[in-house]
Amino acid sequence: MRHANFALSAALALAACQQGKASETTAPADPFAGTWVDLTHALDEDNVFWPTASEYAHVEVVHGETEGGWFYSSYDLRLSEHGGTHLDAPEHFAEGRQTTDRIPLDRLIGPTAVIDVRQQCEENRDYRFTVADVERWEQAHGRLPEGAIVLFRTGFDQYWPDRTRYMGTAKRGAEGVAELSFPGLSEDAARFLAEEREVAAVGLDTPSLDYGKSQDFIAHRILLGENIPGFENVANLGALPAAGAHIVALPVKIRDGSGGPLRIVGFIPEGD
Ligand SMILES: [Zn+2]
Repeated sequence: MRHANFALSAALALAACQQGKASETTAPADPFAGTWVDLTHALDEDNVFWPTASEYAHVEVVHGETEGGWFYSSYDLRLSEHGGTHLDAPEHFAEGRQTTDRIPLDRLIGPTAVIDVRQQCEENRDYRFTVADVERWEQAHGRLPEGAIVLFRTGFDQYWPDRTRYMGTAKRGAEGVAELSFPGLSEDAARFLAEEREVAAVGLDTPSLDYGKSQDFIAHRILLGENIPGFENVANLGALPAAGAHIVALPVKIRDGSGGPLRIVGFIPEGD
């Protein structure tokens, strides 16, 4: 983990270096040569929130012309920490682990591995990602890098924000929880990432690290128990290559938070 916070700058330096070589000039290369992509759903009342989460509210305080003659706009915001594109802080399922404000930046910024499980999830919407799914990525791209932010691409963001198609139900409360249906990590895959690899964080394009029918939230308990945060309801994973991109995922810094709204973006260095 120690080196992970240098991963992005190292990659940028490498990209800069390669660019310098290619052009054979001594002018400093642009360290941001590449493409930034947004992996975040915009927050609004149509967002998918957990069936038991409180309702989202974005309430107008002022919006319009003031007495002084200028325009002014301001809203109040109320939302669950666990709705829309969001972070699960380790303490969400592991008492005494890191809260939102205490997660080190090298857990939130780093190289990414995008593991494509779309076909498996299309065949079975209650699919649980396996160790073999991770190993298939490694066979193609090499061992998961130290400090990797592992993102599983189920393809379910195509259903967003249709709650029934995205998470199996539009019902709220306990009745909704009983009908949840979407893919997530198996216990074995969570254990493999937590214990056999030095991953920084794990994310996916579904509402939860655990599949919808989970009763014990074992993937959450394993990953968060090792201080590995989760990124849920991630969008637009098709914009990233399977390997070679970097993630910057910065949650609102809520003191003692169990999670929080997340702005997650990817950087694809030029040439990738
Ligand atoms: Zn969550």
